[in-house]
Amino acid sequence: MRFIEFIQSCRLKAKILLLFVLILVLPLTVLMGITLGRISRMAAQDFNRNLNYAASLFRESLEDQLDSLKIRAKTVADFDFYTLAGMGFSAETTVPLMQYELIRSGLDYIAVVKNRSEVLLEQGTPPSESLARIIPAMCHSQLNVNLYVIGDEPWIFASAMITKMKTELPQHVIFAQRVPRDFADKLKRLTGAEFSLIYAGNRILSSQMDIYGKRKTGRINDNPDLAQGQIVILGRSHYFVREEALNGRISGTIRLEIALPDSEYNSLGRTMQQDFIVFGLLGLLLALITGSVLSWHIASPINRLAESTSLVARGETGMLPETSRHDEIGALTSNFREMVISINTEKELKEQRVRELNTLFEISNAVNLFTDSEELLKFVLTHAIDALEAERGSIMLLDDSTDELVVKVATGGRYRVFTGTPVKLGNGVCGQVARTGSGAICNDGFKDPRFKNFGSLMPVEDIKSLICSPLKFKDGIIGVINIVNKRNGGQFRESDLSLLNLIASQAAVTIENNKLYELSITDGMTRLFVHRYFQARLNEELLRARRYGLTMSLIMIDIDNFKKFNDTYGHQVGDQVIQKVSQSIRDTVRTGIDVPCRYGGEEMSVIFPETRAEEAFQTAERLRENIAALRVPHSSGDLHITVSIGVASYPIHAHDRENLIKVADKALYVSKGAGKNKTTLAPENSI
Ligand code: GH3
Ligand code: MG
Ligand code: MG
Repeated sequence: MRFIEFIQSCRLKAKILLLFVLILVLPLTVLMGITLGRISRMAAQDFNRNLNYAASLFRESLEDQLDSLKIRAKTVADFDFYTLAGMGFSAETTVPLMQYELIRSGLDYIAVVKNRSEVLLEQGTPPSESLARIIPAMCHSQLNVNLYVIGDEPWIFASAMITKMKTELPQHVIFAQRVPRDFADKLKRLTGAEFSLIYAGNRILSSQMDIYGKRKTGRINDNPDLAQGQIVILGRSHYFVREEALNGRISGTIRLEIALPDSEYNSLGRTMQQDFIVFGLLGLLLALITGSVLSWHIASPINRLAESTSLVARGETGMLPETSRHDEIGALTSNFREMVISINTEKELKEQRVRELNTLFEISNAVNLFTDSEELLKFVLTHAIDALEAERGSIMLLDDSTDELVVKVATGGRYRVFTGTPVKLGNGVCGQVARTGSGAICNDGFKDPRFKNFGSLMPVEDIKSLICSPLKFKDGIIGVINIVNKRNGGQFRESDLSLLNLIASQAAVTIENNKLYELSITDGMTRLFVHRYFQARLNEELLRARRYGLTMSLIMIDIDNFKKFNDTYGHQVGDQVIQKVSQSIRDTVRTGIDVPCRYGGEEMSVIFPETRAEEAFQTAERLRENIAALRVPHSSGDLHITVSIGVASYPIHAHDRENLIKVADKALYVSKGAGKNKTTLAPENSI
């Protein structure tokens, strides 16, 4: 289970490597195990076969040796000595026969034994010792043969009873022969085995010779009672087995040692093992190289792909996976690439839609932000240019009285408002768009046949592409919006026109709403804000000043001796005077910041946000001077106008709207009281 978990947790590269190592090394290891197992079994069989063969050969040879001596002894007893037996054994008759037999049978010793122990006659060299014990043992049966160790030498004894004797006492002929020294060597030549006879801790007969031909005899180093083991013979490792020599016939203490060199199969096995190890290592190396190449070829691109997918999953779609492959991984990569591209396109499209919606929302909301229609038009134009990714543009509104399009706002890097030449309906691209009510794309810019130059202040050669949409409100056209030069030299597409149409229709609604709003808060005669708006704005500005710890000021203006104009020149001139004064107020204060209002009748007021009393006083003085410099042309000569002004500020003069108006009014009356055409700053702590 652990192994499976480990495999599962491995990276792809490691898995491929492991797979290759397993595929290449595992079968080789199994094969090596099986082969070496077979070889070692064969080696064991071969060894046992050789061992058995060598053992049986040794035993048979020894037995043959014994048997042939026994047969000879029997033959000599039954035939050669039989005739002599009748006469009784005498040296003259028997010794020659014994001497003859000694030579003929290759014996070392021959004897005639009487009564199983008494040596009657003997020839040859008697074994040095133990003869007195051996002879009775040999003569207790009619025919006997045995192997004895005398001194350090193995001897074969054979005894045969000489039958048909007249005497009752048995007589035997005894043959004694050393086992030939080369007995084991002959067998070694046949079997390849080393033979030894071991007796009482000594090697008494051995086939083992060193390089000088010296036989290994004498004491053996290891325990002679060991049944089997390993010995080194002439520098080569041999496996030996010790067992009783000639079971049942020879004294159990004489052991036969058969030592066989390692089987050929075993050395073959060792060689093969070495070969297997070399091949195994080579296989491992090959597996690692092949696995690495494959994992580099397969796992690396998959890893890269996996990293790309992780990036995409995290929302980073900027990096596109690259491939030059044409296999499945290549297909996977390029499909994934396509997917990312389409995700990107989809995302861009969505972002584009969101931008468009934002643009539309902001344009629709703009009516709440701007009280000034020009500011509003600039705002709409800027958003339209951004939404269409263009360089510049303009908005033209239709003058209903002349049926001409007039540029109301235009951009050229910076805002530049210019009137330009009014364009008749149907003339040029914008004229046609305004007439037909459907937008137009001119990707040839000024070279477009529909394009006409109306004395624009901008160089027309600069117009490389142009897109124009009508500003439609209800069923009528109120103007056009022109967008010029797609950024980066691009061309406008149908989708741009659809977007511009959307923006234009929203802008038209906003512009119309703004017009209505402007109308509702603007006094028709003076174009100053109405009293209601004044009260609301004053409230608002006071709140703002209070919240942000700012100061703000208010001035109240009253035309001096106004009744005189009405009474002397009529109401129309009176109105004219009011309009002149209002115009002067609008020209003097900051557009879009200060709030000039018609307080009522021929009384005006201006709210100065974020303005200290002294600053407001200075502006009021400038205004008073400007008005004093005005001339109202009249048949009876130019009329002069003067005003009286009162200045009050938050927070030094008052803290609320009513009091601020009251204080400013008071200051105004101070100006009136002081001879008019004056500005009075309310005294501190005037409430
Ligand atoms: P003072 O210098 O003290 O202000 O004297 P005044 O003559 O200006 O006196 P007052 O401010 O009281 O005069 C207000 C007159 O303005 C009363 C009204 O008939 C006249 N008036 C108010 N609104 C209008 C208007 O819209 N048009 C004209 N022509 N006259 C108006
Ligand atoms: Mg008045
Ligand atoms: Mg007045």
